[in-house]
Formats: sequence, C-alpha cells, structure tokens
Amino acid sequence: MSFPWFGKKKTVSISSDFDNGNIKIIDASDVSNIRLEIEPDGAANFFQYFNYRVENAANKPLVMHLINAGGSSYVPGWSDYRTVASYDGEDWFRVDTHYADGVLTIAHTPERATIQYAYFAAYPTTRYRPFVETVSGSSVYKHQKLGKTLDGQVIDYIRAGNGPLQYWVIARQHPGETMGSWWMEGFLPALADKNNAAAKTLLKAATVHIIPCMNLDGARRGHLRTNAAGTDLNRAWRNTTMEKSPEVCLVREKMRETGVDFFLDVHGDEAIPNNFLVSANGIPSWSETHQARYDRFSSLLLDLSKDFQTKDGYPPSAPGKANLDIANNYVAQTWDCLSMTLEMPFKDATVNPNPDVGWSPERCRNFAREHLDVMAAIAPELR
Ligand SMILES: [Zn+2]
Repeated sequence: MSFPWFGKKKTVSISSDFDNGNIKIIDASDVSNIRLEIEPDGAANFFQYFNYRVENAANKPLVMHLINAGGSSYVPGWSDYRTVASYDGEDWFRVDTHYADGVLTIAHTPERATIQYAYFAAYPTTRYRPFVETVSGSSVYKHQKLGKTLDGQVIDYIRAGNGPLQYWVIARQHPGETMGSWWMEGFLPALADKNNAAAKTLLKAATVHIIPCMNLDGARRGHLRTNAAGTDLNRAWRNTTMEKSPEVCLVREKMRETGVDFFLDVHGDEAIPNNFLVSANGIPSWSETHQARYDRFSSLLLDLSKDFQTKDGYPPSAPGKANLDIANNYVAQTWDCLSMTLEMPFKDATVNPNPDVGWSPERCRNFAREHLDVMAAIAPELR
C-alpha cells in the first residue's frame, strides 16, 4: 500500500491578511530562522501588536524572529514578555519568547497544522460582531447605532437600566489592547444576567452606557494604537473632529446628552506586569472629593479581587497638568465625576500569576465581573 501524500513536505506558510492580523514576512524559507516584521499602524508610526497564522506547522520546531521589535512603541514591553498562541482562537497559551538586541524571538513546536501567534489573545471584529448582536438581544439592553467609522463600520452603543446616575464604560480606544474586548465579554453578559445581584442593584441606581469597541477600524486593520486616519483616540478628547476621530466625536456628543457620573475606560499596558487603575488626579479641578471617590473604588476592588493591586502603576500627574486630551481626564474635568482608566497587562500579572496562560481572556472576563460588583457597591457614594 502506498500513500502518495506521505513524505511530501509541505512548507510552512505564514499569513496575516485576516481581520485583526498584523505581520510582514521577510523570509520564511527556513523554519529555524523565520524573519518577520511588525507592521506600523497605517497612517501613524506606532507598532507593537502582531497577530499571524502559521500553516503546515505541526511538529516543526519554529524559530521566529520579529526583527524590528527594538523599534516598537514600548520596548520595555518585551522584557519578561511571552507570546500568546492558539489553535482555535479560543484557548490561548503562552510560548517561549526571548528579547535581545532589538529582536523578539519566539520558539515553539506546534502540535497541530495551524496555529496563531499574537501579542495578546486576538479579538477580531469577526468575533466582536456576533458577540454584540447576541448579547444586545437581551431584554436588558437597548442597542443603538451611534454612527459610522471612517472605514464605514457601525459604532455600537448599548444602554441598560433607567436609574438616575449615568455610568459610562468604554473599551478599546487602543485597538491593540484586545484585553478590553475580553473584559467586555465578561461585563456585558454579567450586567444582563437577571440572577446577578450587583447587576440588579446597579441597573436600579443607574443608566449604564457602554461602547464595547471604540476603535473598530484600528481593530480590523491590526493596528496598535490608532484609527483609520492615524488618530490616537485617547489623545483626541478635547479637540476632536469628524474627519480625524468620529468615534470620539460621536461618543462625546452622546455623553453631553446624558451627563456622566461614573466613567471607566478599559485599556492594556505593555510594560507593567499587573492590573492597575489610573485616576484623573492632575486635572485642574481635582479635589478631596475626587480623591475620596477614587480611593473608595480602588479599595473596594482591592478587597474583592485577587487580580488587583495598587503598588504598580503610573506616577501621579503634576497638579493641574493632566493631559485633557485623554478621555479619563477630559471626562473628570467636564463632568466633575469619578473617572478612571483601567490598565490590564499584556504579560502575566506578578500578583496572582498564572504562567501557563499569563493574563488571559478568562481572567479578563472574571475581572470585569468583579468590576461590576464594585460599580454597584459604589453607586450611593458617587454624588
Ligand atoms: Zn491604551
């Protein structure tokens, strides 16, 4: 008996021409010395996020060099960093990764033919769309189309509850920070869960406004930081235009209609290996009341979550010097409310670490449910 296909060596092929993909192939002819580059955001020179697929890879000891890693936007992000990989886009695990002399080297022998490697668990808009359609079908939610992005994608705005406090929660202004979308995968279903006591409490006290993905164009294009026009949305809140940042324009307009009593902007940080919150402490109107609200939220989250900590984070802004182009600062200054940025790690967290998966989609989802508990608990203290 003969098997004509047996012994014919298929060469590995690498691709990123899919939703949320990002890589440039320099040379893939030798599996032990694959040379790749991360592509910069189209209209802006930011890069760090990569996401690519390798086919015909089973049992091949792949050594992949990302040769331009040393020129990336956040070089300290590569120290102690480990690449995520998945066979199905659902379960992500970490693989050996080493950074030296400006090159990030990923060494892995896949067990299956097709594998995906990414900077953090990929979250394509092809996953986003059905998720939002499904979850927003809940009777708890009203789903509106806020407008369109520059690439013509619909910006989703989801609202729940009818309480007097106005809560706003947004994610993925920076499209490479896919942990924001995994966080939303925990938050949106939990808020719609009729058996979730915190959701019940919150929806009585508040109206909750959610933008599950701010930067759909950047996400689909595989960008790290900017939208189709090369705008960093989280530097566009004060002077925003429909030409350069319609996403921010439209959301800001809606906030002006509703007012804001609570704002959480969900992000990821490349370098710091832990979850942390960022307050708006440098805004001109920062007061003891602002500080007390922030401290209260932070201490409630610290009590509840094994994944939260308050030692690692950004240094405080100089008094009055906060950058009001950043959403968190702009919202705090404009609406005199509790306003925070949440940063989750690309690496593993050193608090409650899990080396197999590092910081992961499941941990993002769980962390979001913990945020919901704290958001409900703090409602009576917001105004
Ligand atoms: Zn960010």
